[in-house]
Amino acid sequence: MTSAVGILSGGLDSLLAVKLLQNQGIEIHGLHFEILFSEKYQKNNEKYEDMKSAALESGYTLHIVDIVDDYLEDVLKNPKYGYGKNMNPCLDCHIYMIKKAGEFMKKIGADFIFSGEVLGQRPMTQMLEKLILINKVTGLGEYLLRPLSAKLLEPTIPEKTGLVNRSKLEGIEGRGRKIQIALAKEFGITEYPSPAGGCLYTDPGFSCRIKDIMTHDPCFTARDIYFMKYGRHFRFDDCRIIVGRDFAENNALEEASGNLWRCSPETVPGPTSVIIQDSGSEKKISDKIIKFSVDLVARYTKNQPIKVIVFSPDGTEEILDGHPVKDEDSKQYRINQ
Ligand code: SF4
Repeated sequence: MTSAVGILSGGLDSLLAVKLLQNQGIEIHGLHFEILFSEKYQKNNEKYEDMKSAALESGYTLHIVDIVDDYLEDVLKNPKYGYGKNMNPCLDCHIYMIKKAGEFMKKIGADFIFSGEVLGQRPMTQMLEKLILINKVTGLGEYLLRPLSAKLLEPTIPEKTGLVNRSKLEGIEGRGRKIQIALAKEFGITEYPSPAGGCLYTDPGFSCRIKDIMTHDPCFTARDIYFMKYGRHFRFDDCRIIVGRDFAENNALEEASGNLWRCSPETVPGPTSVIIQDSGSEKKISDKIIKFSVDLVARYTKNQPIKVIVFSPDGTEEILDGHPVKDEDSKQYRINQ
């Protein structure tokens, strides 16, 4: 049986690519690359379980591949082809995932790899010259099928050898979604995420946090990226202070805080803050920084003076008076303006 390895984002285009190949009797092995929030720090893997079950219901297996650690070093910190509008290293990212998919194809003895890419849909990665570049740099072009635009591209080996019937693939080009939506209807695909809910590396606020850490703490790790998902972020000297915005964020910060300094209101409900020092810093975290964290907690509790518990890394606790940080200070130190 012909089998193929697909790079699946979970979006409509990749679901359609799967269907087009399944309709030709091809066995699908899906790969979903986790490039942001390492499984190591996720308490709740429901999202992945749901994705895997949805894949099984659709007749294929989905492997979640956690590549965050390597991705930070090999792609995000120094992308050969640069960033997009924000901190999205899209071209390097595509190349990286395709290479990984190629390795997996060889490992399991599959016949080719595929993706849901559409010619001309994204300027940084899907213009014809970019697709050709990706083919060349990965060395996998002949084995990389793009079922949604195949009729507009050079035939790949699976098409040339008859493993895939090229005439049953699509020739979609551009940013429009009409054809994809019509195909989804034809294939009975009713649930799919909107294209706007994209990757956080393309998000301006998230990108500010990445820029800050790249400037101050270039040795950052997956744990730092995990913290970027939550709260309001402030930079104070050699520390980042993160203040939760709601109950769920406070819980997430507390759970992951480990041996970090942490602050919470003593008697009233309110935010948790954690202090993360740049990894290269050898200084002791100053009282000034702890005080700023305490005052941030006061600001985001009721914007009134309150008592705040400070939990230190050695397990001791202290109660300090929190006086709300002034608006101008909050703005000055906020990372993602
Ligand atoms: S949007 Fe995100 S996942 Fe997609 S190519 Fe760019 S960096 Fe990679």
